[in-house]
Amino acid sequence: MRYIEPHAHMVSRTTDDYQAMLTAGCAAVCEPAFWAGFDRGTPEAFYNYFLQLTEYEPARAAKFGLPHYTWLCINPKEAEDPILAREVISFIPDFIDKPNVLGIGEIGLNKNSRNELKVLEWHIELAAELDQLILVHTPHLEDKLKGTKLILDALKAHPKIKPDRVIIDHVEEHTVDIVLDRGFWAGMTLYPESKCTPARAIDILENYGTEKIWMNSACDWGISVPLAVPRTALEAKARGYNRRWIDKVIFQNPVNFMKQCKKFKKPDA
Ligand SMILES: [Zn+2]
Repeated sequence: MRYIEPHAHMVSRTTDDYQAMLTAGCAAVCEPAFWAGFDRGTPEAFYNYFLQLTEYEPARAAKFGLPHYTWLCINPKEAEDPILAREVISFIPDFIDKPNVLGIGEIGLNKNSRNELKVLEWHIELAAELDQLILVHTPHLEDKLKGTKLILDALKAHPKIKPDRVIIDHVEEHTVDIVLDRGFWAGMTLYPESKCTPARAIDILENYGTEKIWMNSACDWGISVPLAVPRTALEAKARGYNRRWIDKVIFQNPVNFMKQCKKFKKPDA
């Protein structure tokens, strides 16, 4: 089995996790900028985090022969302070041409607040200006449907944003159709408790098909499983899906989305 882990917060994981992922067939890992379990609070802390994502973490992954890519932004959980957000956004262009940066992400909404929406719009404008791909985080539980609609409206309102170049992550049964219907890519996050379990993810694929959709483990600082993608592939296999079907979802689809950024190289796996 070969797969791409398109959304993993490796700064929270050990080198053992890298080894386990490689053993399971991981051919590339992509790490959006997000919350790290605490509020960083200062622009300098975000600057250092961007250095970690663009210099240290790719070097750590390279020790295991694993290509590491990243996405940059100030995440929605820390976007309540527009002054801090403005400052962080101001130095994203300094990092955007680094060889492992694929675009702007994971931007979006957390509590659907007015300030979060304003910061989301600034990021969308930045992505349009710099012609970058976008990776979007959608809110949890009861805020998800409303937040997803607000995000899609904000993206659609920008004349330069093409839905083909945007992935809306953490979709669930009640949001996947509006995302795909409006031409965006959709990501399913496989968590042991919330978001999608492996069985729910395969159910969603059975209902909505395998076009423009991927799966990821998110594997962050909280309860999460770095091998969730290959384990879900085993669930698909147990339901009778063949190698080709599985390969499309866990390898070809992420490659097809991310290769829209010229820096992403299709792994030789
Ligand atoms: Zn994430």
